[in-house]
Amino acid sequence: MSGTPGSGGEVPEQVICDLAAASRILVAQGVVDGFGHISLRHPSAPDRYLMARSIAPALVTPADIIEYDLDSNPCNANGRGSFLERFIHGEIYKARPDIMSVVHSHSPSVVPFGLVDVGMQAMFHNAAFIAAGVPVFDIRHKFGATDMLIGNGAKGVALAESMGNKDIVLMRAHGSVACGATLQSAVFRAVYTEVNARIQHWTMALGRGAPVAALDEEEGRLADVVNQTAGLRSWDLWRAQVRAQVNW
Ligand SMILES: [Zn+2]
Repeated sequence: MSGTPGSGGEVPEQVICDLAAASRILVAQGVVDGFGHISLRHPSAPDRYLMARSIAPALVTPADIIEYDLDSNPCNANGRGSFLERFIHGEIYKARPDIMSVVHSHSPSVVPFGLVDVGMQAMFHNAAFIAAGVPVFDIRHKFGATDMLIGNGAKGVALAESMGNKDIVLMRAHGSVACGATLQSAVFRAVYTEVNARIQHWTMALGRGAPVAALDEEEGRLADVVNQTAGLRSWDLWRAQVRAQVNW
C-alpha cells in the first residue's frame, strides 16, 4: 500500500507543534511515562504518518517529529532513532482509513483489564467510545512467547485485526491503544480510557460483584458525538498548559 520513502509534503508548523504538545499532554494526564507514543496521519498524504523520534514523551519538541510511510519506514530520520513499536501506528493507519491519530500507552489502570476476564465498560459519558466494545489482543495466540512488543509489521497487522472496527484495543500484559478521527479526539480518548479504568476498579470494589450500570452501546454512541466537540475544551486547557512551559 505504501510506496518508496519520501515526503508526503509540507506539514503546517502548527500541526507539528500540536503533535509534540500532545505527547507532553499525555504525560501530564498520567497516560504515558518514559514510554508510550502518539502519532498523527499526515494531513495531506494519507499514506504517511508523523511521530516523534524515540524519546521520552515529556521531552518531545517539534524538531523531534519524523515522517513515516505506512510500513513504518522513516522518510526523514536524518540519524534520529525510531520507536520499536511504531508498527502499531502504521498498521492501524493501513487498516483503518477513518483513523487520523493513534495513542499507544501502558497506562497502569488499564493493564488489569487485559489480564483477567473482566471486560472494560464505559463508566461515564467522557469515556463513551468504550461502550462500543473493548477487544483484548493476546500476542501469544499468533506469535507464541515474545518480548511482548509490536516490533514488526506482522505483529502490527495482528493487533489492528484484533482492534477491528473499534477505536480501542487492550494488549495483554502490556498496555493499550486508543484512536480517533482527530489528534484531539485520540488524546481525549486515551486520557479518559485511563480515568475510566480507575473508575471501573472503584465501582467494582464498591459494588462487590453487583451488576454495573454502565453506558449501553446507544448511550455510548450518542455521548461520543458530544465528546468530539465539547471535548475540545479539555484540549484547549491541556494545550494552554503546555504552551505555558514552552514557546511553541
Ligand atoms: Zn508498548
